[in-house]
Amino acid sequence: MSAVLTAETADELISTNPATGEEVGRVVTAAPEDVQAAVEGSREIFHKWKTTSFAERKALVMRAREIILADIDGIAKLISAESGKPFGEAISMEIAPVLDLMQWVARGAEKMLRPKRVGIGLYGLLGRSSKKIYKPYGVVGIIPAWNYPFSIPLGEAAMAVMAGNSVVIKPSELTPLVGEKIGEIFETSGAPDGLVQIVHGAGETGAALVDAAPDKLMFTGSVATGKKIAKAAAENLTPTVLELGGKDPMIVFEDANLELAAGGAVWGAFCNAGQSCSSVERLYVHESVADELTRLIVEKTRALKQGSGDHEDVSIGPMSSERQLKIVEDHVAAFREAGAKIEFGGNADIPVRHAEDADKSVRVPLFFPPTVITGATNDMRSMREETFGPTLPIATFKTEEEAIALANDSEFGLTASVWTRDYAKGRRVAEQIEAGSVCINEVLYTHGIGQTPWGGFKNSGRGRTHGIEGLMELVQPQHIHTNRIALLPNAWWMPYTPTAVETFRGFATKFASGSLLKTTTMMPQLLKRLKELLKR
Ligand code: NDP
Repeated sequence: MSAVLTAETADELISTNPATGEEVGRVVTAAPEDVQAAVEGSREIFHKWKTTSFAERKALVMRAREIILADIDGIAKLISAESGKPFGEAISMEIAPVLDLMQWVARGAEKMLRPKRVGIGLYGLLGRSSKKIYKPYGVVGIIPAWNYPFSIPLGEAAMAVMAGNSVVIKPSELTPLVGEKIGEIFETSGAPDGLVQIVHGAGETGAALVDAAPDKLMFTGSVATGKKIAKAAAENLTPTVLELGGKDPMIVFEDANLELAAGGAVWGAFCNAGQSCSSVERLYVHESVADELTRLIVEKTRALKQGSGDHEDVSIGPMSSERQLKIVEDHVAAFREAGAKIEFGGNADIPVRHAEDADKSVRVPLFFPPTVITGATNDMRSMREETFGPTLPIATFKTEEEAIALANDSEFGLTASVWTRDYAKGRRVAEQIEAGSVCINEVLYTHGIGQTPWGGFKNSGRGRTHGIEGLMELVQPQHIHTNRIALLPNAWWMPYTPTAVETFRGFATKFASGSLLKTTTMMPQLLKRLKELLKR
């Protein structure tokens, strides 16, 4: 369901297939006043939606799943057409994980958000009790990137709705029809009109959504835009979750299963044409196995087909935009200039290799071949900035300490992976890596495990999506404190007197020690103070 637009401000956004340049469709963009109206309308819906039971919310999200299940291929085709990613990958990396996230949050939100008693120590002896209840924020504004245009905003919307919020999504201008599809899925599932609204447009529309002061913002995108959003959100003190970029390291020790590590590296670096926030962007391998690992990686890369995402046997599609292609070209050129060696790929002029694409109007300009680079070092610019493309730079290390230091030598900290047959070493190294998720003998896919927290350290983000931590980002805890024996005044109330001050000393030295034994020794002083208060 798109927001209602005013005719005089309405404009169109044309979405094209990055593989062919063909139009996929068009949507009407929202002016700032339309975005404001969408947020205000959403707030009205919120006040009704927050009163619904978890059973009603679960029924909605489970119906939305059924609608997706009935049209898996249609949705995957749309994701592939707008983003360029292979059709199969749209199913494996977007549709399947978000379906899993949806069933998990639909079934589990009630339990996770159930009111909880809080232990309050010695205050309990005074007849007090505390519990936490969780209240939805209100309107959740979602600004996603184009690289996972279905699973990220839909997953966040499903979690927001389960927690009792309403939602306004501003999809990326590169993938508006996938955004539109999300609105349609909720609409067809019978969501109240306006519960999940879609407002279209480019960065200015995103900025208008921030300025419209939703009650919570969920942003996925670059560090640069994340900083702009954090500044703009500060104007209204809007709490913001930022899911930002990465430069994720993969560490391969000499005892790793090299065949598996090579397969993991190829998938981790080239999945979604390298346009995943958790792509392998730096591979550190022990010097003793570097040649063998590189040989295996090149062999596996050579076997991949690149082409338009609609072929089921294509593993790598085009870059999603010219801007992205230029960054990849620049980074590969910088590697060359700095003395690194291109072992495979490296040249955007290499023609697309899928035979059937020769007959179609496939736009070779947006394709960049999977590129394997050796001799990379951390002082090279391309090892420090996020590439977000199909490059796999390989560097070597001598010791465990050096591997950890190289991996941590980055402004980013989203994910990392450690490959070894020695699980104790794997865990020891993993725990020293500064990243939100670290895999041992696995790579890239943990965003797909909706039960686990997702988010970055350092410049890779603030806050979490997914997992109970992600659900907690969508609610505000409210503390309810009760005094069940409200018969006497509190010893700390006014008026203050010398007896009061002596009692307060007892609070500081005895009660605040947490020891029941010590606290009982202040009882005479406490009674004296209470008598004093009751006399007045
Ligand atoms: P951008 O930062 O360019 O854009 C992200 C979103 O913000 C888009 O919807 C964009 O709109 C919108 N936007 C742009 N300017 C503004 C603004 N001033 N105010 C509000 N919204 C704005 O990132 P990309 O889309 O290029 O995405 C790639 C980045 O996302 C990479 O750095 C990647 O690592 C990161 N990412 C992080 C993930 C994580 O979980 N940590 C997951 C996926 C990606 P429009 O596109 O229409 O310009």
